[in-house]
Amino acid sequence: MPSGTNKPTAKKHPLENQRVFQNTLTKWFEAEAKDYPWRNTTDPWAILVSEIMLQQTQVTTVLGKGHYTRFMALYPTPADMAEATEQEILKAWEGLGYYRRAKNLHAAAKAITRDHRGIFPRKYEEIRALPGIGQYTAGAVASFAYNESQPIVDANVARVFSRLFNLQDRIDTTAGNKQLWKWATELVSKQNPRAYNSALMELGQRQCSLKSPDCNTCPVNNFCHCIEPTTLPIKKSAIKVTRVDEFALFAQDSHGRLLLQQVQKGERREGMWMLPRREHAATLDLPLSLKTTYSITRYHVTLRIYSSHTQDINAAEHEAWHRMENIEDLPMPSPDRRALESILEE
Ligand code: SF4
Repeated sequence: MPSGTNKPTAKKHPLENQRVFQNTLTKWFEAEAKDYPWRNTTDPWAILVSEIMLQQTQVTTVLGKGHYTRFMALYPTPADMAEATEQEILKAWEGLGYYRRAKNLHAAAKAITRDHRGIFPRKYEEIRALPGIGQYTAGAVASFAYNESQPIVDANVARVFSRLFNLQDRIDTTAGNKQLWKWATELVSKQNPRAYNSALMELGQRQCSLKSPDCNTCPVNNFCHCIEPTTLPIKKSAIKVTRVDEFALFAQDSHGRLLLQQVQKGERREGMWMLPRREHAATLDLPLSLKTTYSITRYHVTLRIYSSHTQDINAAEHEAWHRMENIEDLPMPSPDRRALESILEE
Protein backbone atom coordinates (compact mmCIF):
# COMPACT_ATOMS: atom_id res chain seq x y z
CA MET A 1 0.00 0.00 0.00
CA PRO A 2 1.44 3.43 -0.88
CA SER A 3 2.85 5.64 1.87
CA GLY A 4 0.28 7.99 3.36
CA THR A 5 -2.30 5.24 3.03
CA ASN A 6 -3.56 3.52 6.10
CA LYS A 7 -6.38 1.16 6.78
CA PRO A 8 -9.53 3.15 7.53
CA THR A 9 -10.86 2.89 11.06
CA ALA A 10 -14.60 2.40 10.53
CA LYS A 11 -16.59 2.75 13.71
CA LYS A 12 -19.75 4.19 12.21
CA HIS A 13 -21.85 3.34 9.22
CA PRO A 14 -22.59 6.23 6.84
CA LEU A 15 -26.22 5.20 6.34
CA GLU A 16 -26.87 4.91 10.07
CA ASN A 17 -25.24 8.25 10.79
CA GLN A 18 -26.23 10.25 7.77
CA ARG A 19 -26.30 13.72 9.30
CA VAL A 20 -22.98 13.23 11.08
CA PHE A 21 -21.44 11.89 7.88
CA GLN A 22 -22.77 14.80 5.81
CA ASN A 23 -21.72 17.40 8.37
CA THR A 24 -18.23 15.92 8.77
CA LEU A 25 -17.73 15.96 5.03
CA THR A 26 -19.08 19.47 4.42
CA LYS A 27 -17.11 20.96 7.34
CA TRP A 28 -13.92 19.50 5.88
CA PHE A 29 -14.85 20.89 2.48
CA GLU A 30 -15.57 24.36 3.82
CA ALA A 31 -12.08 24.42 5.37
CA GLU A 32 -10.24 22.76 2.47
CA ALA A 33 -12.18 23.65 -0.69
CA LYS A 34 -10.16 24.69 -3.69
CA ASP A 35 -11.18 27.94 -5.27
CA TYR A 36 -12.52 27.31 -8.77
CA PRO A 37 -14.52 29.87 -10.81
CA TRP A 38 -17.49 27.50 -11.14
CA ARG A 39 -17.67 27.31 -7.34
CA ASN A 40 -18.06 31.08 -7.08
CA THR A 41 -21.19 31.22 -9.16
CA THR A 42 -24.74 29.88 -9.15
CA ASP A 43 -25.19 30.54 -12.87
CA PRO A 44 -26.39 27.14 -14.19
CA TRP A 45 -24.92 27.80 -17.65
CA ALA A 46 -21.43 28.53 -16.25
CA ILE A 47 -21.72 25.38 -14.13
CA LEU A 48 -22.88 23.26 -17.06
CA VAL A 49 -19.94 24.45 -19.20
CA SER A 50 -17.50 23.55 -16.40
CA GLU A 51 -19.08 20.13 -15.90
CA ILE A 52 -18.90 19.28 -19.60
CA MET A 53 -15.30 20.49 -19.87
CA LEU A 54 -14.23 18.54 -16.78
CA GLN A 55 -15.80 15.28 -17.97
CA GLN A 56 -12.66 14.15 -19.77
CA THR A 57 -10.18 16.93 -19.13
CA GLN A 58 -8.11 17.68 -16.02
CA VAL A 59 -8.80 20.82 -13.97
CA THR A 60 -5.21 21.93 -14.60
CA THR A 61 -5.83 21.97 -18.37
CA VAL A 62 -9.29 23.52 -18.17
CA LEU A 63 -8.09 26.32 -15.90
CA GLY A 64 -4.32 26.49 -16.34
CA LYS A 65 -4.51 26.92 -20.08
CA GLY A 66 -7.37 29.38 -19.82
CA HIS A 67 -9.91 27.26 -21.73
CA TYR A 68 -12.79 27.84 -19.32
CA THR A 69 -12.26 31.59 -18.97
CA ARG A 70 -11.91 32.06 -22.73
CA PHE A 71 -14.96 29.94 -23.50
CA MET A 72 -17.14 31.79 -20.99
CA ALA A 73 -15.96 35.13 -22.36
CA LEU A 74 -16.99 34.02 -25.85
CA TYR A 75 -20.28 32.41 -24.83
CA PRO A 76 -21.46 33.89 -21.52
CA THR A 77 -25.05 32.71 -22.12
CA PRO A 78 -26.72 29.79 -23.93
CA ALA A 79 -28.06 32.29 -26.50
CA ASP A 80 -24.52 33.43 -27.35
CA MET A 81 -23.44 29.86 -27.99
CA ALA A 82 -26.63 28.98 -29.86
CA GLU A 83 -25.88 31.72 -32.40
CA ALA A 84 -22.34 30.48 -33.12
CA THR A 85 -21.51 28.22 -36.06
CA GLU A 86 -20.19 24.71 -35.54
CA GLN A 87 -16.78 25.76 -36.92
CA GLU A 88 -16.60 28.57 -34.35
CA ILE A 89 -17.53 26.17 -31.54
CA LEU A 90 -14.94 23.62 -32.61
CA LYS A 91 -12.32 26.37 -32.74
CA ALA A 92 -13.28 27.56 -29.24
CA TRP A 93 -13.02 23.98 -27.96
CA GLU A 94 -9.61 23.37 -29.54
CA GLY A 95 -7.09 21.88 -27.11
CA LEU A 96 -9.74 20.18 -24.96
CA GLY A 97 -10.28 17.14 -27.20
CA TYR A 98 -13.37 14.90 -27.23
CA TYR A 99 -15.18 17.32 -29.51
CA ARG A 100 -18.46 15.45 -29.15
CA ARG A 101 -18.82 17.34 -25.85
CA ALA A 102 -18.69 20.72 -27.63
CA LYS A 103 -21.36 19.59 -30.06
CA ASN A 104 -23.58 18.36 -27.23
CA LEU A 105 -23.16 21.66 -25.40
CA HIS A 106 -24.04 23.50 -28.61
CA ALA A 107 -27.18 21.37 -28.95
CA ALA A 108 -28.12 22.09 -25.31
CA ALA A 109 -27.59 25.84 -25.86
CA LYS A 110 -29.88 25.73 -28.89
CA ALA A 111 -32.54 23.79 -26.97
CA ILE A 112 -32.45 26.30 -24.09
CA THR A 113 -32.77 29.18 -26.55
CA ARG A 114 -35.53 27.51 -28.57
CA ASP A 115 -37.57 25.73 -25.89
CA HIS A 116 -36.96 27.87 -22.79
CA ARG A 117 -36.67 31.37 -24.32
CA GLY A 118 -32.98 31.42 -23.45
CA ILE A 119 -33.59 30.97 -19.74
CA PHE A 120 -31.80 28.00 -18.24
CA PRO A 121 -34.44 25.50 -17.03
CA ARG A 122 -35.08 25.44 -13.31
CA LYS A 123 -36.48 21.91 -12.90
CA TYR A 124 -34.24 18.85 -12.69
CA GLU A 125 -36.36 16.94 -15.24
CA GLU A 126 -36.03 19.80 -17.73
CA ILE A 127 -32.26 19.93 -17.28
CA ARG A 128 -32.06 16.15 -17.69
CA ALA A 129 -34.09 16.43 -20.91
CA LEU A 130 -31.54 18.74 -22.58
CA PRO A 131 -29.51 17.04 -25.33
CA GLY A 132 -26.34 15.35 -24.11
CA ILE A 133 -27.13 15.83 -20.40
CA GLY A 134 -26.98 12.62 -18.38
CA GLN A 135 -28.01 11.82 -14.83
CA TYR A 136 -24.71 12.92 -13.33
CA THR A 137 -24.55 16.28 -15.15
CA ALA A 138 -28.21 17.10 -14.42
CA GLY A 139 -27.66 16.33 -10.72
CA ALA A 140 -24.47 18.40 -10.62
CA VAL A 141 -26.11 21.45 -12.23
CA ALA A 142 -29.27 21.17 -10.07
CA SER A 143 -27.28 20.86 -6.83
CA PHE A 144 -24.50 23.37 -7.58
CA ALA A 145 -26.70 26.03 -9.20
CA TYR A 146 -29.99 25.61 -7.34
CA ASN A 147 -28.86 23.83 -4.15
CA GLU A 148 -31.38 21.12 -5.00
CA SER A 149 -31.01 17.79 -3.26
CA GLN A 150 -29.99 15.56 -6.20
CA PRO A 151 -27.50 12.69 -6.04
CA ILE A 152 -24.39 12.59 -8.20
CA VAL A 153 -22.09 9.73 -9.16
CA ASP A 154 -19.04 10.43 -11.29
CA ALA A 155 -15.76 8.48 -11.33
CA ASN A 156 -14.54 10.16 -8.14
CA VAL A 157 -17.76 9.60 -6.24
CA ALA A 158 -17.95 6.00 -7.47
CA ARG A 159 -14.49 5.35 -6.05
CA VAL A 160 -15.34 6.97 -2.71
CA PHE A 161 -18.57 4.96 -2.32
CA SER A 162 -17.06 1.68 -3.39
CA ARG A 163 -14.43 2.17 -0.67
CA LEU A 164 -16.72 3.55 2.03
CA PHE A 165 -18.99 0.53 1.65
CA ASN A 166 -16.22 -1.91 0.70
CA LEU A 167 -18.08 -2.85 -2.49
CA GLN A 168 -16.69 -6.14 -3.76
CA ASP A 169 -18.74 -6.14 -6.98
CA ARG A 170 -17.74 -4.58 -10.28
CA ILE A 171 -18.95 -0.98 -10.59
CA ASP A 172 -19.14 -1.07 -14.39
CA THR A 173 -22.12 -3.43 -14.41
CA THR A 174 -25.79 -2.43 -14.28
CA ALA A 175 -26.10 -3.84 -10.76
CA GLY A 176 -22.91 -2.14 -9.53
CA ASN A 177 -23.90 1.20 -11.03
CA LYS A 178 -27.39 0.90 -9.56
CA GLN A 179 -25.93 0.25 -6.13
CA LEU A 180 -23.73 3.37 -6.32
CA TRP A 181 -26.72 5.55 -7.28
CA LYS A 182 -28.76 4.02 -4.48
CA TRP A 183 -26.14 5.00 -1.90
CA ALA A 184 -25.76 8.45 -3.48
CA THR A 185 -29.54 8.95 -3.27
CA GLU A 186 -29.76 7.74 0.31
CA LEU A 187 -26.85 9.86 1.47
CA VAL A 188 -27.37 13.14 -0.38
CA SER A 189 -27.84 16.06 1.98
CA LYS A 190 -31.25 17.71 2.19
CA GLN A 191 -29.87 20.72 4.09
CA ASN A 192 -26.86 21.67 1.97
CA PRO A 193 -26.62 19.54 -1.16
CA ARG A 194 -24.41 22.08 -2.94
CA ALA A 195 -21.59 21.86 -0.39
CA TYR A 196 -22.14 18.14 0.27
CA ASN A 197 -21.90 17.12 -3.42
CA SER A 198 -18.89 19.36 -3.95
CA ALA A 199 -17.28 17.83 -0.86
CA LEU A 200 -17.85 14.32 -2.13
CA MET A 201 -16.17 15.11 -5.43
CA GLU A 202 -13.29 16.92 -3.75
CA LEU A 203 -12.78 13.97 -1.41
CA GLY A 204 -12.43 11.66 -4.40
CA GLN A 205 -10.07 13.99 -6.23
CA ARG A 206 -7.75 14.85 -3.38
CA GLN A 207 -8.04 12.45 -0.48
CA CYS A 208 -9.35 9.21 -1.87
CA SER A 209 -7.29 9.12 -5.04
CA LEU A 210 -7.05 6.03 -7.21
CA LYS A 211 -3.45 5.07 -6.41
CA SER A 212 -2.66 6.84 -3.10
CA PRO A 213 -5.71 7.28 -0.89
CA ASP A 214 -4.59 9.11 2.24
CA CYS A 215 -6.73 7.39 4.83
CA ASN A 216 -4.70 8.77 7.74
CA THR A 217 -5.97 12.28 7.25
CA CYS A 218 -9.30 11.42 5.57
CA PRO A 219 -12.18 13.29 7.26
CA VAL A 220 -14.50 10.29 6.89
CA ASN A 221 -12.12 7.44 7.74
CA ASN A 222 -14.33 6.77 10.75
CA PHE A 223 -17.13 5.82 8.36
CA CYS A 224 -15.06 3.89 5.85
CA HIS A 225 -15.40 0.10 5.74
CA CYS A 226 -12.86 -0.80 3.13
CA ILE A 227 -9.94 -3.04 4.00
CA GLU A 228 -7.62 -2.59 1.01
CA PRO A 229 -8.43 0.83 -0.50
CA THR A 230 -6.16 0.49 -3.52
CA THR A 231 -7.92 -2.69 -4.65
CA LEU A 232 -11.19 -0.76 -5.09
CA PRO A 233 -13.20 -0.01 -7.10
CA ILE A 234 -13.38 -3.27 -9.02
CA LYS A 235 -13.83 -2.90 -12.78
CA LYS A 236 -13.44 -5.04 -15.84
CA SER A 237 -9.72 -5.12 -16.59
CA ALA A 238 -8.40 -2.17 -18.51
CA ILE A 239 -8.89 -2.13 -22.26
CA LYS A 240 -5.71 -2.93 -24.15
CA VAL A 241 -3.99 -0.09 -25.95
CA THR A 242 -3.96 -0.46 -29.74
CA ARG A 243 -1.06 0.95 -31.72
CA VAL A 244 -1.94 2.79 -34.91
CA ASP A 245 0.21 4.42 -37.62
CA GLU A 246 -0.97 7.50 -39.47
CA PHE A 247 0.70 9.08 -42.51
CA ALA A 248 0.06 12.70 -43.40
CA LEU A 249 1.32 15.34 -45.82
CA PHE A 250 2.76 18.76 -45.28
CA ALA A 251 2.09 20.28 -48.68
CA GLN A 252 2.30 23.96 -49.62
CA ASP A 253 1.60 25.30 -53.11
CA SER A 254 3.49 28.05 -54.94
CA HIS A 255 1.28 30.68 -53.23
CA GLY A 256 2.29 29.31 -49.83
CA ARG A 257 -1.15 27.82 -49.21
CA LEU A 258 -1.42 24.66 -47.14
CA LEU A 259 -3.40 21.57 -48.09
CA LEU A 260 -5.82 20.46 -45.37
CA GLN A 261 -8.47 17.78 -45.12
CA GLN A 262 -11.81 18.26 -43.41
CA VAL A 263 -12.98 15.42 -41.20
CA GLN A 264 -16.27 14.07 -42.48
CA LYS A 265 -19.60 13.52 -40.78
CA GLY A 266 -19.76 10.57 -38.42
CA GLU A 267 -15.99 10.46 -37.89
CA ARG A 268 -14.16 11.41 -34.72
CA ARG A 269 -13.32 15.18 -34.84
CA GLU A 270 -16.04 15.74 -37.40
CA GLY A 271 -15.82 19.18 -39.06
CA MET A 272 -12.21 19.88 -38.01
CA TRP A 273 -9.32 20.51 -40.41
CA MET A 274 -6.24 18.30 -40.28
CA LEU A 275 -3.14 17.57 -42.31
CA PRO A 276 -4.28 15.35 -45.18
CA ARG A 277 -3.92 11.67 -44.35
CA ARG A 278 -2.59 9.22 -46.92
CA GLU A 279 -1.98 5.49 -47.23
CA HIS A 280 1.55 4.44 -46.26
CA ALA A 281 2.34 3.43 -49.86
CA ALA A 282 1.62 6.97 -51.09
CA THR A 283 4.32 8.43 -48.83
CA LEU A 284 7.14 5.97 -49.53
CA ASP A 285 9.15 8.32 -51.78
CA LEU A 286 8.62 11.45 -49.72
CA PRO A 287 11.04 12.95 -47.17
CA LEU A 288 9.93 12.65 -43.55
CA SER A 289 9.40 16.06 -41.90
CA LEU A 290 8.24 15.01 -38.49
CA LYS A 291 7.42 11.94 -36.45
CA THR A 292 5.28 12.39 -33.37
CA THR A 293 2.99 10.37 -31.14
CA TYR A 294 -0.30 11.02 -29.38
CA SER A 295 -2.92 9.04 -27.50
CA ILE A 296 -6.64 9.11 -27.99
CA THR A 297 -9.03 6.86 -26.06
CA ARG A 298 -7.52 3.36 -26.41
CA TYR A 299 -5.27 4.21 -29.35
CA HIS A 300 -1.62 5.12 -29.28
CA VAL A 301 -0.94 6.81 -32.60
CA THR A 302 2.37 7.36 -34.36
CA LEU A 303 1.89 10.19 -36.81
CA ARG A 304 4.47 10.63 -39.58
CA ILE A 305 4.32 13.77 -41.68
CA TYR A 306 5.97 13.91 -45.09
CA SER A 307 6.85 16.96 -47.16
CA SER A 308 5.45 17.00 -50.61
CA HIS A 309 5.85 19.26 -53.63
CA THR A 310 2.67 20.63 -55.07
CA GLN A 311 3.29 19.12 -58.51
CA ASP A 312 2.92 15.70 -56.86
CA ILE A 313 -0.31 16.56 -55.13
CA ASN A 314 -3.87 16.02 -56.15
CA ALA A 315 -6.24 17.41 -53.57
CA ALA A 316 -8.62 14.61 -52.79
CA GLU A 317 -12.30 14.97 -52.03
CA HIS A 318 -12.88 16.98 -48.81
CA GLU A 319 -9.45 18.61 -49.11
CA ALA A 320 -8.75 22.26 -49.78
CA TRP A 321 -5.84 24.72 -50.02
CA HIS A 322 -5.84 27.28 -47.19
CA ARG A 323 -3.91 30.52 -46.91
CA MET A 324 -1.43 30.35 -44.05
CA GLU A 325 -2.83 33.46 -42.33
CA ASN A 326 -6.21 31.71 -42.02
CA ILE A 327 -4.93 28.46 -40.52
CA GLU A 328 -4.93 29.84 -36.97
CA ASP A 329 -8.68 30.44 -37.17
CA LEU A 330 -9.57 26.94 -38.35
CA PRO A 331 -10.56 24.28 -35.82
CA MET A 332 -7.73 21.74 -35.84
CA PRO A 333 -7.07 18.70 -33.61
CA SER A 334 -4.27 19.37 -31.10
CA PRO A 335 -1.84 16.72 -32.47
CA ASP A 336 -2.06 18.29 -35.94
CA ARG A 337 -1.78 21.82 -34.55
CA ARG A 338 1.33 20.91 -32.54
CA ALA A 339 2.91 19.05 -35.47
CA LEU A 340 2.24 21.93 -37.84
CA GLU A 341 3.76 24.44 -35.42
CA SER A 342 6.90 22.27 -35.07
CA ILE A 343 7.32 21.99 -38.84
CA LEU A 344 6.81 25.71 -39.37
CA GLU A 345 9.27 26.57 -36.58
CA GLU A 346 11.93 24.57 -38.35
S1 SF4 B 1 -12.83 7.27 1.93
FE1 SF4 B 1 -10.96 6.80 0.80
S2 SF4 B 1 -9.36 8.07 1.76
FE2 SF4 B 1 -11.12 8.02 3.16
S3 SF4 B 1 -10.63 6.34 4.53
FE3 SF4 B 1 -11.89 5.49 2.91
S4 SF4 B 1 -10.42 4.72 1.38
FE4 SF4 B 1 -9.32 6.09 2.76
